[in-house]
Amino acid sequence: MQFTRDEIIEILNDDSKNDWLFTLADKVRHDYVGDEVHLRGLIEFSNVCKRQCKYCGLRSENKVIDRYRIEPSDIIKYAENAVKMGYKTIVLQSGEDEYYSVDKICEIIKGIKALDVALTLSIGEKSYDEYKAFKDTGADRYLIRIETTDRNLYKAMHPNMDIDNRFRCLEDIKTLGYEVGTGSLVGLPNQTIEALADDILFFKKLGADMVGIGPFIPHPQTPLADADTGNFEIALKVMALTRLILPEINIPATTAMETLNANGRIIALKSGANVVMPNVTTTEYRAKYEIYPNKICINENPEQCRNCIGAKIKSIGRTISQNYGKSRHFRSKQ
Ligand code: SAH
Repeated sequence: MQFTRDEIIEILNDDSKNDWLFTLADKVRHDYVGDEVHLRGLIEFSNVCKRQCKYCGLRSENKVIDRYRIEPSDIIKYAENAVKMGYKTIVLQSGEDEYYSVDKICEIIKGIKALDVALTLSIGEKSYDEYKAFKDTGADRYLIRIETTDRNLYKAMHPNMDIDNRFRCLEDIKTLGYEVGTGSLVGLPNQTIEALADDILFFKKLGADMVGIGPFIPHPQTPLADADTGNFEIALKVMALTRLILPEINIPATTAMETLNANGRIIALKSGANVVMPNVTTTEYRAKYEIYPNKICINENPEQCRNCIGAKIKSIGRTISQNYGKSRHFRSKQ
């Protein structure tokens, strides 16, 4: 569907249209990408980060956090276990940790691709040559949220970073033939509804294959400790509008949504989302990957998470996909 910027702003501002929006997004999701939910096995393999993003608990200036790194051979073991449980996609996510050289990441990619799964990387800003090396070694998808397209807000939230480099990363990833994943944080301090509308229009302009939208949750060990928590409904509205405007893409029901609402992922799945990313590492690491507080499932093991989300998905009449779950938007381009 086509919406002008003004129409998007109007829908975001008008809560009397919420039921219409969520129901329509659910229908568009059904009509374009079907009732299958794609599960991605998420491995958060390092919480070491050189950046200082103001909202993120992994920021380098947080001296309280207990830092960890999972060795490549153990990362591959977690992936093997996830594949045995039926996962068809593995997502590797971390802070920007230079311990993992290009060679190390390529070693991990090789080990995981030998398991016959799709592989998504979410390891931050890299050079074209690094993205190329990962792609040539077998990585299929790359996730890097733009976080916000508002230049001033981006600058305020990301000391020593440059939004144009973030855009460059996304263009490189697209040029290299990855499935492109991006997205935004909703509810950052001083973020306007207009800026959220611009984020949605950016996802379209970029031609994103996957878009993840999550509410901002203040972390106590960050400069935004006292900021207001993002609004669940607004995040859901941004997600639902993204489904209407980009009907063929993959949209995760994000973990941050479930942190703000006990039924958040199911609500998201009924409002346009078609992907869930359960954690497939063991409990020793889960609490430590604290990008925001009160993360869900920190005391659960991979089997428990898989069974729990599987039962929830079935309870709303949806099925769990048995294929790699490539974005229909991406397939349409090929
Ligand atoms: N270093 C990688 C992965 C970042 S963590 C990268 O730069 O892409 C994944 C996502 O967590 C981020 O993109 C951000 O949108 C989200 N996040 C970070 N801090 C958050 C917070 N306080 N509340 C909600 N989401 C947060």
